[in-house]
Amino acid sequence: MIQDIAPKKFYNPICFDTITAKDKVVLFDERSVLIQRNDQNELIIPSFCELKEQKEEKFQYAFSIDQTRYFIKKAEYMQEKEQVEGYGYEALSTIRQLISKEICFAVMSAWHLAGWYRDNRFCGRCATTTIHSQKERMLYCPGCGNMIYPKIAPAVIIGVVDRDRLLLSKYAGREYKKYALLAGFTEFGETAEETVAREVFEEVGLHIGKPKYYKSQPWGIDSNILYGFFVSLKGEAKISLDPNELSLAEWHERGKIPAADDGISLTREMIGFFEDKERFETWFFD
Ligand SMILES: [Zn+2]
Repeated sequence: MIQDIAPKKFYNPICFDTITAKDKVVLFDERSVLIQRNDQNELIIPSFCELKEQKEEKFQYAFSIDQTRYFIKKAEYMQEKEQVEGYGYEALSTIRQLISKEICFAVMSAWHLAGWYRDNRFCGRCATTTIHSQKERMLYCPGCGNMIYPKIAPAVIIGVVDRDRLLLSKYAGREYKKYALLAGFTEFGETAEETVAREVFEEVGLHIGKPKYYKSQPWGIDSNILYGFFVSLKGEAKISLDPNELSLAEWHERGKIPAADDGISLTREMIGFFEDKERFETWFFD
């Protein structure tokens, strides 16, 4: 999955160091990121020294991957669009790729963080300008004491299983046109397991058994933490589609599933896991 960058390691503790020449800068314009593709189609993020104007005060540290430090623009400067020789803006939705997994993960994480800083410059309670806590990743309101932590929205990815069949779907009205598993946000007051049952019933009208937790994945592009579950069908297999959410939902036999693990998304890893009958059944029916 995108976050699986071992033996490299992702470090996210807060730090207030000033940016230096070789630090990477992740720059956005709307939902696009400034990137370069080399001859091998690998993605490259610019270093601070490549910027035309190198104004240290406009940048803040975001995180590191091993020794490489990534910086983002401070919220008050995010509107200024940077141009760097040899780099262009590419839509976030088009840059997912295995050969530059570490870069894709860095871009997604930077996007997640930058969006949170951008949206919380002012206190939602009293409208005072927020300040950064010196101890942790938290914005603090000097006016009323409000503490604002990064927004991480829980959502579930659901593999509904009917013996040798897996339920695949396609979203309605979204950019992503490939097969996906059912998915949905956890609502307030709900457990992740309850989200699974509610989403399956709302989207395809099916009843299910007890969900079994598989793995999780940070999905920064939508500020999510995704929790993957597999669950058995209980009762009728006849699908009743919610056309507002899905354009299609259908059962696919193991071995004939038109999507494979892409090494990036939890959804695709779960599909790949289901395809390995022995490994899947040993785990699922344990
Ligand atoms: Zn306040």
